[in-house]
Amino acid sequence: MSGQNVDESGAGERSRILVVDDIPANIKSLNAILAEDYNVIFATDWRKGLELAAHKSPDIILLDIMMPDMDGYEICRRLKSDAHTREIPVIFITALNSEADEEKGLAIGAADYIAKPFRPAVVRLRVRNLLQLKLQRDRLEALTMTDGMTEIANRRRFDQHLEEEWRRCARMEIPLSAIMLDIDHFKTFNDNYGHTAGDECIRKVAQALAAIPTRAGDLVARYGGEEFACLLPGTDREGAITIAGRLLDAVNGLEIPHAWSNVTGNVSISAGVGVVIPNRDGEPGGLMKLADEMLYAAKNAGRNRVSA
Ligand code: GH3
Ligand code: MG
Ligand code: MG
Repeated sequence: MSGQNVDESGAGERSRILVVDDIPANIKSLNAILAEDYNVIFATDWRKGLELAAHKSPDIILLDIMMPDMDGYEICRRLKSDAHTREIPVIFITALNSEADEEKGLAIGAADYIAKPFRPAVVRLRVRNLLQLKLQRDRLEALTMTDGMTEIANRRRFDQHLEEEWRRCARMEIPLSAIMLDIDHFKTFNDNYGHTAGDECIRKVAQALAAIPTRAGDLVARYGGEEFACLLPGTDREGAITIAGRLLDAVNGLEIPHAWSNVTGNVSISAGVGVVIPNRDGEPGGLMKLADEMLYAAKNAGRNRVSA
């Protein structure tokens, strides 16, 4: 997901605008117009421009067309063909002002086109309007990736993250660990305490689990009803078993009474750990199947435990 730096109230981090233009004076004049409201970063060549676009998550890119080595059209094409930068709106700002140029810019996927000489007030408004749209889209996308009941990541987010991390770990030849988790004897919890208490229990468990792994790339998601999945890129078997133990401890620590469970008398959870070193041609589905088989083993071995 590209950056979510925008906050209409102005209370959060300021929106970030990347200006790519080979002429420093142009950057200066745009900076003068925008710096009061936004965090402006800039590049004077295509290489730096693409790098900042990929790594600094700008909310909008203002792109000059006439530049040496690679023109703005080509830079825009590259931005639109890379999944990391595709969603960032691009505004062309250029001295080329024939209608054909404008059409070409928009056809490539630019969101807007401003011809020089421009009026500062118009630049400011166009940027503001586009940022509002970008912010709304970011919020909607965040919603589609979040489980409404527990407010942690949902299955869709997990599957997307798994695909990405699978490829990244394959490139780096590092292990990828997955933990499948399932609440113990949850059916009797629901049957005896009621569905509302059941939902509340799932929420508490979800929040407790999500707080455990903290490294970049780690993710805990609600995988199904009372099942959760945890992804740990770059973590080996030993590390994954440690984290799985902490996940169990976190749930035990909640001390939610479950009088109909003979495991501990409180709500507990079982965990199955799968570890692979992904290869490019493989399928991440196999990793989840492995973790699921281990979860089944943990259930059979008595629950409230980790199998690996
Ligand atoms: P086990 O220890 O083998 O996991 O036993 P279990 O009773 O937990 O068995 P299972 O995992 O198959 O049970 C899932 C139950 O979880 C079924 C359903 O009643 C309950 N459940 C699933 N999703 C929800 C939900 O969103 N809210 C509530 N309240 N209950 C749910
Ligand atoms: Mg289940
Ligand atoms: Mg269960």
